[in-house]
Amino acid sequence: MKIRDVRTESPNSPTQGVLDAAESSEADIQDEIEFALIQMKAETLHKIEEALRRLEEGTFGYCFECGEEISERRLRALPFAVRCKDCEEARETAQQRERAIAQRRGAASLFIDMQG
Ligand SMILES: [Zn+2]
Repeated sequence: MKIRDVRTESPNSPTQGVLDAAESSEADIQDEIEFALIQMKAETLHKIEEALRRLEEGTFGYCFECGEEISERRLRALPFAVRCKDCEEARETAQQRERAIAQRRGAASLFIDMQG
């Protein structure tokens, strides 16, 4: 009886505080998920718009880089593909190289910044 009284009379008990913290962090996660979803939707919308534009231009299904026809199999798997398999692979390789260079540059620019 006495314990129950304490609980009802002090809403700001430590237990309550812990619950609030848990709830707010859950809300944060929900915000993050929502933000990620909105971002994903925006990216998908952009891809759809791009595909529609390419359909209008008559360039849909053709490689953005080399102009070769993108295989039907590839388009079925990736309806928004803008490059043929070869160009996509080449781009990925180039991106990986760029990333490696950027990392090296990042380290170098940090060094330069330190020197003022
Ligand atoms: Zn290509």
